[in-house]
Amino acid sequence: MKICLLPGDGIGPEIMAEAVRVLRALDLDCTMEEALLGGGAVDATGDPYPEATQRLAQAADAVLLGAVGGPQWDALPRALRPERGLLAIRQQLGLFANLRPAILYPELANASTLKSEVVAGLDILIVRELTGDIYFGQPRGIETRDVDGRQERFGFNTMHYSESEIRRILRVAFEAARKRSGRLCSVDKMNVLETTQLWRDVAIETAADYPDVVLSHMLVDNAAMQLVRNPKQFDVIVTGNMFGDILSDEAAMLTGSIGMLPSASLDANNKGMYEPCHGSAPDIAGQGIANPLATILSAAMMLRYTFARHDAAQRIENAVKKVLGQGYRTADIHEPGMRQVGTRE
Ligand code: ATP
Ligand code: MG
Repeated sequence: MKICLLPGDGIGPEIMAEAVRVLRALDLDCTMEEALLGGGAVDATGDPYPEATQRLAQAADAVLLGAVGGPQWDALPRALRPERGLLAIRQQLGLFANLRPAILYPELANASTLKSEVVAGLDILIVRELTGDIYFGQPRGIETRDVDGRQERFGFNTMHYSESEIRRILRVAFEAARKRSGRLCSVDKMNVLETTQLWRDVAIETAADYPDVVLSHMLVDNAAMQLVRNPKQFDVIVTGNMFGDILSDEAAMLTGSIGMLPSASLDANNKGMYEPCHGSAPDIAGQGIANPLATILSAAMMLRYTFARHDAAQRIENAVKKVLGQGYRTADIHEPGMRQVGTRE
């Protein structure tokens, strides 16, 4: 088991240190090596995804990532921004399937801003395509054009998906639904966008291979609404890169605890990159108060998906439930009567 650790920026190094302690406590037969990604990498090497990191990430079975970015790098040219490093590693490793569970732990029932009957027991999975769509389509750019006889700036992006790109993400989602309660909702905007008309057609074709899964379809605007109206109607949601970006953040907020949510980004062979759903939280970096559970749970996802060590993953997940049950809370999920602790505790 070769694991590449990319602590990154902001609270990244603090939360990574705790995830590493948890992995070491499991006494697994694994090697862990650390490298630079994001803002720290730009400062040290002039590149958000340096060569040395590329070599390590490509040679590893799995990558565990903290978080990248922060205000001190916002003014850099696009190509040098920390987030570029993230896009580059996803592309290079072919991590096309992004899995984001949104789970509301019973111990944190009050964390959501929604009424408890709407979210109590919430356990959904969003499967987002990660390497295609309008985020990567060419041509793209900002240029000066003649618009109705005037010269003005013109911005454009291209949304596209090939049939095979759609099919492979749908297969990941169908497989996931099969292991859960067997319901899959495919989200598109087929009434307006050709790309997503193709998406829907391919979803219907792929469903023929999964007779045990019930497939439904929803337009993205309705899905955004249904997620806050009645999120428990969903089990697994599958969608493209842009819609998935938005819906997965929305789903995360349903639980009210961004510091609790892990994610996995997988290639075709279950090699993966695992990271918390939250960002680098520059506002609390260096204070030792960040919640490390999202990163610790990301390590559990890594053991489950890349290494098929379900026993070890389960031990981590049980431990997280246990500390919550015992009342330990970092500041972001603290409530009166609970025991407030820092990242390391
Ligand atoms: P990004 O653009 O990288 O997604 P963001 O702007 O969405 O970042 P985050 O970095 O996720 O923002 O932070 C959003 C808020 O959540 C901040 O107030 C931050 O302090 C808080 N936060 C994020 N992660 C944690 C954590 N692990 N523990 C405690 N608070 C957190
Ligand atoms: Mg964000």
